[in-house]
Amino acid sequence: MLLPYCAKPSWCDYRHTDDCGECGGCTVGDLYRMAYERGMIPITITSFEMLRDTLQWCAENGYTYIGHCCYEFYEKRYEIFRKAKDWGANGVLIDIIGTTCYDLGVEEEERAYHGEFQVELDLFVEDSEKILSIKEKVEDNHKPEKKGRPVPAEPLKSFLPEYYKIPKTVSGPEEDRTRLPIIKEKDKNIGFINGDKVDYDIALERAIELVINASKPTIIVGPLVLWSWSEESRRKAELVRKLKELIPRLNIHVLPDYRPKNKNFDPAREVDPPNPHISILHGRHDLTLMIGVHCYRTDFVIRLLKKHTQTKIITLCNLYGHPDADVSLSGMNPEKLERFVDSLSPVSS
Ligand code: SF4
Repeated sequence: MLLPYCAKPSWCDYRHTDDCGECGGCTVGDLYRMAYERGMIPITITSFEMLRDTLQWCAENGYTYIGHCCYEFYEKRYEIFRKAKDWGANGVLIDIIGTTCYDLGVEEEERAYHGEFQVELDLFVEDSEKILSIKEKVEDNHKPEKKGRPVPAEPLKSFLPEYYKIPKTVSGPEEDRTRLPIIKEKDKNIGFINGDKVDYDIALERAIELVINASKPTIIVGPLVLWSWSEESRRKAELVRKLKELIPRLNIHVLPDYRPKNKNFDPAREVDPPNPHISILHGRHDLTLMIGVHCYRTDFVIRLLKKHTQTKIITLCNLYGHPDADVSLSGMNPEKLERFVDSLSPVSS
């Protein structure tokens, strides 16, 4: 069940995450419940890249989807739905109610693409219920999780700006599911240089060279490393901190969640998710590393940085890697990150 983020209220902390607290505050909660009752997986689509990855995941894992979107979106993004069909993902789309970004003009449409459209829309709950009635109910063991607010990883805590208010929830490791089930071990040991797939060690060597030669490098630390999720994320946070100690000229830019900042942020410390280029232009960074950013967001950030800046880009990716970056290292576990950081030690000392 694919749900649009624009049907969640703008005050909801879940708006830009693939989750819902089922508080009863909007129709998305009704659809999450209906989906769980019928053994379906509800997913909130927060960007075009996430839609693409999710449809690909449906195809590769034999899922049929029920999506909710306005007609204009379908017309404009028809190509991705057609591709999904070619990949093997069939689906049904249900219209949504209200004034869409397309009704409001090009500017809002662009904002919606970036996930920052502020208007709230409604879903056809009764019609959805009728459609779903052909699917039998299953035992629903899902209970909305009471997670508690996210806790910053200790080594990186001081990089969160004082003005930042920790939301109820942020996008966590579970949102990586769009790619996780299909990743194969051998694909974790590769890298990309300017779109070409290469051995991991060759990509590593190139990444080190870029860091050494950069005069104003920066690292964007996303929610998967900035928050204390697990031993693995905490170890990565320690290593990012070590990297900063080894290379004092390295700037740390945090990307704690994917809510738009609406200009209320310090571009020297934080990244505005819909406009990542603002921070890079502000610091005149010639090299941007990325770690802990979800794959669908990483693709989006790369696209915007390529469009608006001259920065070189290195992604330290948990999964397959990103061919659109200048250099991408795949399967970035703590051991590989340690090797990357240690490779820079002799150079920086
Ligand atoms: S039902 Fe879910 S999406 Fe809607 S307001 Fe509540 S938590 Fe947010």
